[in-house]
Amino acid sequence: MEIRFQPALLQEVIDSFVEKTEREGDPTYYKEFHEHADPIYEKFILEDREAEFKKLYQYLFGIWGFSDIVRDSFNEYPLLKQKVGIVLVKGVLKEDQEGVDILRKWGSVEKDLAKEFEEKGMKGVGIKLIPRRFYDPALTRYCRHELMHISDMIDPLFGYDPDTKIGQNPGEETLILQRYRILWSLSVDSRLVAAGKEPMLSKEDRFKEFRSWYRKIPPPQLKAVFEGLWQTSYFTHSELIEMAADTLRVMDRAVDVEGGEVPETENKIMLMPGFPCPLCRFPTYSWVEDMQTKLEPYVLDFIRENHPGWDVEFGACDRCVEVYKLRADGVM
Ligand SMILES: [Zn+2]
Ligand SMILES: [Zn+2]
Repeated sequence: MEIRFQPALLQEVIDSFVEKTEREGDPTYYKEFHEHADPIYEKFILEDREAEFKKLYQYLFGIWGFSDIVRDSFNEYPLLKQKVGIVLVKGVLKEDQEGVDILRKWGSVEKDLAKEFEEKGMKGVGIKLIPRRFYDPALTRYCRHELMHISDMIDPLFGYDPDTKIGQNPGEETLILQRYRILWSLSVDSRLVAAGKEPMLSKEDRFKEFRSWYRKIPPPQLKAVFEGLWQTSYFTHSELIEMAADTLRVMDRAVDVEGGEVPETENKIMLMPGFPCPLCRFPTYSWVEDMQTKLEPYVLDFIRENHPGWDVEFGACDRCVEVYKLRADGVM
């Protein structure tokens, strides 16, 4: 497995690291850099300097241990390492552009080399990082976590499929994808903890994140559900999709915990924010619950007549409720 760092990234990392350590009172790296860099100006003519600097950056990046961070993360996943032909590491400007993914296009990899990997069924991995990440101690945690996602993606058992069709509309699709990511990351971190390794986020933080995406589940049940997810050793892609799309499938995972409560999920319908209203089909964030007590029986009958199969437990958005109240009264 070959790891290639984009030359511009090497330079950015070294320059900013030298500047930072010097500013913070440690001139070691600044001195070492200049010991190598200054002779380049003396010994080489202008047009040869660029190549010399490129070599220097590559050298320092190696001996200062930056390339080892990425290499060591891969060493934790021997099976993944066998299936990856090349890793391209590139710099990005902003945190929201960072990420680790399977390469779909070969980009800067030479055609012959790419062909060689593809014929052997090997994959390429792309890593995008902001330069200062390399001297952030969290990088090891980050890489380890992301590479477990990648391991899942190339594991036939996991059954990854980037083209899975989800949701009835873009709003619903976004919500399901967010939940999919939350559940998958939770699963990755729980497996890391089970293996005695440091996760990207602690169990407590994963719980907080989970809770914020499932506000509709009552707190004692939330604890039982989260614990069930955390204790599950492996989820496949389709299980994750199913749980992300249907909250009842998440609640099915509940286990007994102290201070927790296992929910009764059979025949229960959750009115989740962002899910489509059964009457108008628009994603809604303002469900009217307990319609039985809030609406007159003749209004409910009027809705049932207009939407065969609908009943109060399916709920409705507040706009529909207003409209049907008026229509039942003959106003509209
Ligand atoms: Zn993750
Ligand atoms: Zn509606």
